[in-house]
Amino acid sequence: MKQYTLLIGGERVAVSSHAPVSNPSNGDIVGYMPLASEAELDRAVDAAAEAFAGWSRMPDEKRAQACRALAEKISEHAEELAQLLTREQGKPLSGLGSRFEIGGALAWTRHTAELSLPVEILQDDNEGRVDLYRKPIGVVGSITPWNWPVMIACWHIIPAIRAGNTIVIKPSPMTPLSTIRLVEIMNEILPAGVVNVVTGENSIGAALSAHPGIAKMIFTGSTETGKKVMASAVATLKRLTLELGGNDAGIVLPDVDPARIAEGLFWGAFINNGQTCAALKRLYVHDSIYDDVCNALVDYAGKIAIGDGLDETNILGPIQNEMQFNKVRELVEDARAKGGRILTGGEPMDRPGYFYPITLIADVDHGFRIVDEEQFGPALPIIRYTDIDEVIARANDNPAGLGGSVWSSDPEKAKHYALQLECGSVWINKHGAIQPNAPFGGVKQSGIGVEFGAEGLKEFTTIQTVLS
Ligand code: NAD
Repeated sequence: MKQYTLLIGGERVAVSSHAPVSNPSNGDIVGYMPLASEAELDRAVDAAAEAFAGWSRMPDEKRAQACRALAEKISEHAEELAQLLTREQGKPLSGLGSRFEIGGALAWTRHTAELSLPVEILQDDNEGRVDLYRKPIGVVGSITPWNWPVMIACWHIIPAIRAGNTIVIKPSPMTPLSTIRLVEIMNEILPAGVVNVVTGENSIGAALSAHPGIAKMIFTGSTETGKKVMASAVATLKRLTLELGGNDAGIVLPDVDPARIAEGLFWGAFINNGQTCAALKRLYVHDSIYDDVCNALVDYAGKIAIGDGLDETNILGPIQNEMQFNKVRELVEDARAKGGRILTGGEPMDRPGYFYPITLIADVDHGFRIVDEEQFGPALPIIRYTDIDEVIARANDNPAGLGGSVWSSDPEKAKHYALQLECGSVWINKHGAIQPNAPFGGVKQSGIGVEFGAEGLKEFTTIQTVLS
């Protein structure tokens, strides 16, 4: 089985220690991840710092062209990346799986390539002139999670380099191989040192986020780890973008047709098996249509083929890793023990791999772990409500604030309530539908800063004003 290498300063760097990466569908080893030492991390940061001098001074249009060329390169390797992603992450090739993820990576890369940050003239009159320039920050450190590893890597890398920074990325130890391959492909066209990858256990993430040579960290992962990254930033006042955990509420008003919204609700919650930051994680349904919505969701769930992602007939795969599998089991058990009614699923599937069925749980409420905590898996609590103002308050009664949604046949009414939700993105009659031109980020403990679009690009810059 292949031993992967680090990629530092445009060169593949072999190391002496490796760790196996296994396929969550069957336990087969997919490849061996290099375990970088701190010396190799230093080398990567040095290589990125060296490359920064040339890359940051390059004419902006040349960097835009390089990002366009990256999209073409990724596109040429799309199927290879999708196959590797399915084997290490578990998500199917089909449906909203690996090919969809690579398609997303491409869409964001292409969109970001076309963004620019022109000089803004803040004042130009008899009193004087003020110009606002956006300048690159330096070497960016990137840490990514295991749920959408290739797409999130592009969310970090492309705006960072588009704005003139260089980067050292550290993927999750659960899914490092597709990121290594992505960076290898990028290095076929980028100058040496602009994009570097180091891999290893969580400790190498801690070392990266504390590294004095890193000027800015972009981190996507759990709120708990995000707080550690923030603490590490103190010594050198690193700039931070933190995209953290969510516990998104979806609120269904009494005026909907349950059969019509079932598909949207289902994929809002179960995209990538629920292992999505802005998935619908708490569903609040009005008492008058509660049973109809529950039944429509159970019917829809019955149509979904779950299995090994390399089999193209499957549209959901396993949970990605044992820790997450156990967490979902525990939260479902807690709900059952407290009187939650399991409408479908509720027990691990009797087969090898971390397979857990789509699980819908009725008659749950705040105080159940699956409502209060982020489940990040294929289990959805469905909470009954009668009073809309009271349900908004309950939806907001959570430390997370990533996304939310309101479902109604009256879009204006839906918007009225949507604006009362404490979250960074709110959808009407859909959930989690992110797009490259809409800034995305969390409020409260779901993060700091935004990604995507010009607002996201600005996070990879510092402001310099010129006053004359
Ligand atoms: P995690 O926090 O366990 O790990 C994320 C990354 O941090 C991994 O690369 C890991 O190796 C690294 N890491 C671990 N300990 C570290 C430390 N002490 N210092 C620095 N880095 C460290 O998260 P996960 O389980 O991989 O991902 C799931 C979480 O990510 C969920 O909470 C999900 O909601 C969140 N997420 C958020 C977004 C968003 O955009 N807001 C997107 C995807 C996932």
